[in-house]
Amino acid sequence: MKRIVVLGAGTGGALLSNRLARKLGPKGWTVTVIDKSDTHIYQPGLLFLPFALYGHHGPEDITKPIRWPLDNRVAFVQAGVNLIDHAARKVETTGGTYPYDYLILALGCGVDPARVEGLAETMDATAFTYYTLDGAMALQKFFGRFDKGRVILNIAEMPIKCPVAPIEFVFLADYYFRLRGIRDKVEVDLVTPLSGAFTKPLASAALEGVAREKDIRIIGDFDIASVDGGRRVMRSWSGREEPYDVLVTIPPHVAPEVIENSGLADLSGFADTDRASLKSRKAQNVYVVGDCSNIPTSKAGSVAHFSGEIVEHNLLAEIEGKEPPMAFDGHSNCFIESGHHKALLFDFNYDTQPLPGLFPFGGVGPFPLLKESRINHWGKMAFRHVYWWLLTTGRLPEGPWAPALMSLKGKHVELLARAR
Ligand SMILES: Cc1cc2nc3c(=O)[nH]c(=O)nc-3n(C[C@H](O)[C@H](O)[C@H](O)COP(=O)(O)OP(=O)(O)OC[C@H]3O[C@@H](n4cnc5c(N)ncnc54)[C@H](O)[C@@H]3O)c2cc1C
Repeated sequence: MKRIVVLGAGTGGALLSNRLARKLGPKGWTVTVIDKSDTHIYQPGLLFLPFALYGHHGPEDITKPIRWPLDNRVAFVQAGVNLIDHAARKVETTGGTYPYDYLILALGCGVDPARVEGLAETMDATAFTYYTLDGAMALQKFFGRFDKGRVILNIAEMPIKCPVAPIEFVFLADYYFRLRGIRDKVEVDLVTPLSGAFTKPLASAALEGVAREKDIRIIGDFDIASVDGGRRVMRSWSGREEPYDVLVTIPPHVAPEVIENSGLADLSGFADTDRASLKSRKAQNVYVVGDCSNIPTSKAGSVAHFSGEIVEHNLLAEIEGKEPPMAFDGHSNCFIESGHHKALLFDFNYDTQPLPGLFPFGGVGPFPLLKESRINHWGKMAFRHVYWWLLTTGRLPEGPWAPALMSLKGKHVELLARAR
């Protein structure tokens, strides 16, 4: 019996273990997935919880039991992973030792407020993060009592999960305070270490245009050094200060320690991964999927999905002694909620920045790129159901509606020359 062990049963781990178990189970392979949590969180839903918007009121709206998406051909073990002994090809967990022939790392990443001086001490008092379930609910409670003052959304440092989630937050904050009739009493600002709203110029310009219409200020090049919760002030390394009434923070992101402790990390602590093959650059027979890798693209569910499909095809080929058929191009896409039942959509990869046009079918769409529309909003709302029923169950058919590799069809590529 040959063994595949998947570490992490979140977006990437669930979809990949389901797909591999269906294809390799009949050929005598076992697929075991190990996760310490008993709950799978639909993380894009965290964005809406602070505002209780669009049917996202509490944990029950965005979570399911961790086993829920898993096929009954997948063996699930609830345990913490302590060490990956890649020389001996085994994993040590709080629930025993698991040998493997191939290992898939899909351990995601988390946030650590303690990495910014003074931030941890003020969490859930005047500083909040919606990047955790408890944090999102604490912010919902706080906003229920908040009726005037300055709301700052601060990104502590890059990389972060879903790099558009901060701009979505300020757009939704604007919408939420308008719905409550108090927008004229609340200032909404995004304070970021980037020079603009996003990492890529055309997308930044599109988002900054929407922000201007909503009277949201984007304050760039702010590298946070410390927070003084008593004075309610953030200070940057260059000595700039930004006062706030409520600080919504996206704290520094950290990979699970087991990756570094097992000698699989780069200097940042994330798994050292080949950006095309998605194999570990530190160990044999180890593939990496999703947020715990150090590949230079977004940490996003779409990337966990697309890179998961690449790993599936390449691993199946490797098992059959064939050449890997696919190289990952960093494909990422995401809807960006902008309030008032509208959203934008980005589609990009390592080399091509988000461009205007239509997605996924060139000339037909139906989703416009880099532009606000109602259909994009309904796409994002529908995605919650696609996530649970098709994506994480590994049943989303491959095809042009969600290609693992980015397509240029329907995109205004002529703008690339101008934007360079
Ligand atoms: C606020 C917010 C909004 C987002 N919005 C979007 C969006 O609109 N679109 C989009 O594409 N993406 C979005 N994302 C990002 C997306 O949710 C993640 O990129 C995606 O879930 C990553 O999948 P993953 O499999 O890499 O990790 P996860 O889904 O995080 O799974 C990792 C799993 O590993 C387990 N684990 C970790 N350490 C251990 C250990 N030592 N032992 C055992 N188990 C362990 C965890 O319990 C977890 O279940 C958003 C994220 C956030 C926070």
